Amino acid sequence: MTAPRLNLLGLDQDALRRWLVERGDKPFRASQMMKWLYHAGVSDFSDMTDLSKSMRARLGATVEVRGPQVIFEGVSDDGTVKWLLQLDGGNAIETVYIPDNGRGTLCVSTQVGCALDCSFCATARQGFNRNLSTAEIVGQIWVANQRLEALAEGTGAAAARITNVVIMGMGEPLANLANLIPSLNIMIDDMAYGLSKRRVTVSTSGIVPAIDKLRESVDVALAVSLHAPNDALRDELVPINKKYPLAVLMDACRRWVDRDRKTHVMFEYVMLAGVNDQPEHARQLVKLLGDLPSKVNLIPFNPFPGVGYTRSSNAAIDRFWDVLNHAGVRTTKRRTRGDDIDAACGQLAGQVDDKSRRDNKFSAPRFGEQR
Ligand code: SAH
Repeated sequence: MTAPRLNLLGLDQDALRRWLVERGDKPFRASQMMKWLYHAGVSDFSDMTDLSKSMRARLGATVEVRGPQVIFEGVSDDGTVKWLLQLDGGNAIETVYIPDNGRGTLCVSTQVGCALDCSFCATARQGFNRNLSTAEIVGQIWVANQRLEALAEGTGAAAARITNVVIMGMGEPLANLANLIPSLNIMIDDMAYGLSKRRVTVSTSGIVPAIDKLRESVDVALAVSLHAPNDALRDELVPINKKYPLAVLMDACRRWVDRDRKTHVMFEYVMLAGVNDQPEHARQLVKLLGDLPSKVNLIPFNPFPGVGYTRSSNAAIDRFWDVLNHAGVRTTKRRTRGDDIDAACGQLAGQVDDKSRRDNKFSAPRFGEQR
């Protein structure tokens, strides 16, 4: 078997420069190439007309630019698009595009499956298979852009744009930090996707040393999946809490905001009926947050087969919101999007080395079908 080719989607600007220099090319070629890759969306080196012919030929013979392959595309009634993407080696992951009032948010995966075992999350049910490479993380944006253009073709409308990226798909991003960081660099680099640091959000269940490492490595926004205001309950819902309990986690959040006075931490809180949605929980949450610059995002629980929780009623969510709001905590309610195609938070499952299921998806893609 031939060795896989180097995929240039895996190299951020620094790495691309280093790689070029090692091959005897000039480092400034990096910005030229990145403009072709990310601004023009070109993957064929022969189209990169400001590179010399011999360089184009050499690149074409040795490396590649390749996103994962789309094996299923579902478009929700609300415009949300979900892709099942085939990775090398047989696994597949899911990526979701959520259009909203002029914004277009891409929800990106970082692992096949997840090791963290949060009790209310569908991805946890699959267990953990492997980390995504940088090229596979960036490749999701690459492929989404291509597909959004294809979907717009012939409609007369401009292609939907990706204005924000949230690392909230399958997996725990901070358990894959080494591959995540270069992908974030590519998202915020003006030579590449050029997203502002406030438009790229990494969501974590709270792996504290990795939060610190992320803070030292790249300037993006942080979301923490809190889901409970006390350790007893959080141990149950987000078991990584046993290793990094709330006091330790909140200290890491304080270090995060100390870097930049204008920043805040976004806390995600999934609303589980009768479990964590009582006014008493909201009062505990107010105390826990104290004067930390924060926003709370209440997420209606999205059920999946076999899970033991149900979604909080709208009244319970409103009551919870009231308590936080009265205490001066900025709180938003997340609208559920794309649930008719199983694209909502916590419903991403992809597939782990399960060929029969993939064949199923191919032959009978029924939207809204429960997995
Ligand atoms: N592992 C990372 C990112 C992936 S999950 C993290 O934990 O933050 C993205 C968000 O969806 C998290 O806040 C997660 O807790 C939430 N989520 C998981 N399952 C859910 C479900 N069934 N309904 C609603 N939100 C869910």
